[in-house]
Amino acid sequence: MSEILVLVEQVEGEVKKVTLELLTLARSLGTPAAVWLGPGITADAKAKLAEYGAEKIYVGGSEELVQYVVAPKAEALAQLVADKSPAAVLVAATAEGKEIAGRLAVKTDSGVITDAVGLGEGFVADQSIFGGGVNVRAKVRRGTPIVAVRPNSTAPAPSAGAGAEEEIAVTLSDAAKATRVVERVKQEKGARPELTEAAIVVSGGRGVGSAENFSVIEGLADALGAAVGASRAATDAGWYPHQFQVGQTGKTVSPQLYIAAGISGAIQHRAGMQTAKTIVAINKDPEAPIFELADYGVVGDLHQVVPQLTEEIKKRK
Ligand SMILES: Cc1cc2nc3c(=O)[nH]c(=O)nc-3n(C[C@H](O)[C@H](O)[C@H](O)COP(=O)(O)OP(=O)(O)OC[C@H]3O[C@@H](n4cnc5c(N)ncnc54)[C@H](O)[C@@H]3O)c2cc1C
Repeated sequence: MSEILVLVEQVEGEVKKVTLELLTLARSLGTPAAVWLGPGITADAKAKLAEYGAEKIYVGGSEELVQYVVAPKAEALAQLVADKSPAAVLVAATAEGKEIAGRLAVKTDSGVITDAVGLGEGFVADQSIFGGGVNVRAKVRRGTPIVAVRPNSTAPAPSAGAGAEEEIAVTLSDAAKATRVVERVKQEKGARPELTEAAIVVSGGRGVGSAENFSVIEGLADALGAAVGASRAATDAGWYPHQFQVGQTGKTVSPQLYIAAGISGAIQHRAGMQTAKTIVAINKDPEAPIFELADYGVVGDLHQVVPQLTEEIKKRK
């Protein structure tokens, strides 16, 4: 079977869950080959990639690959595509992944699909477009299919691959070194999962009423092991930090479960969450548009409903 390249996302040597999802997806379509770009690959990381099916692990370990913004990674992948002629390239549909995908498409004269939420035989992708307003099935017709897949689109399942390591030498052009990274600031990681990767997201909107009241949303999130999100009305009011905003001008999430509390369901909010597998809405207005989208709805005051729900969940643990 043809090789499918999967660009590894990692933080300080730890492989991110989305990469395991992409390897699982690649396994159903061909032979997965992980591509690690940058220094610092560890034995644990290699074992993890092999555990989820990587038959090969291409390692470009040069420091240069991470000293500049995304261009070197796109160049390295383009060289690998020219060398190995893979059947497809999969990247995570993160901000960085999508930029790499676009650049790689130009360099290899190939078609690119972003924000895929599924990928089937013949590399036909289910894609969420126009700010999530329309779902289409799309297929690349030119060059090597490059597909940026959203986190949580597939459940990661282990199935051992050989994990044979192969060093790759990358030659970077001057153009790829145009923008140097001068500083990296580590964001303090809380106990909650990262918003775009979380399997469960609990979001609060204007209905939450104040910054202090967001503790109700956080309480439910913590009971479920979920990430916290917010509507723009809530972030603009200063009730919750902007980095947690879900929607067209915020983060795009695609969790297994999305709970929207006190959120009306404006199109710009839907754009960031409507590919969630199951949507639960809690709103005191039975006519709120979010109920058109929700799989389950609770009509009621979130200040009563959410604490009761949190208590019930805690009892079952
Ligand atoms: C260019 C542009 C980009 C935008 N980008 C985004 C974006 O990225 N993300 C985003 O979210 N919005 C975005 N917006 C804003 C968007 O249009 C909405 O204004 C916003 O999503 C509304 O947030 P909300 O649902 O929390 O507030 P509202 O629309 O005011 O809804 C609040 C809801 O809470 C309910 N409620 C009130 N009290 C309670 C209670 N006690 N219990 C239960 N329910 C209660 C109400 O019935 C109501 O349905 C954007 C707008 C524009 C123009």
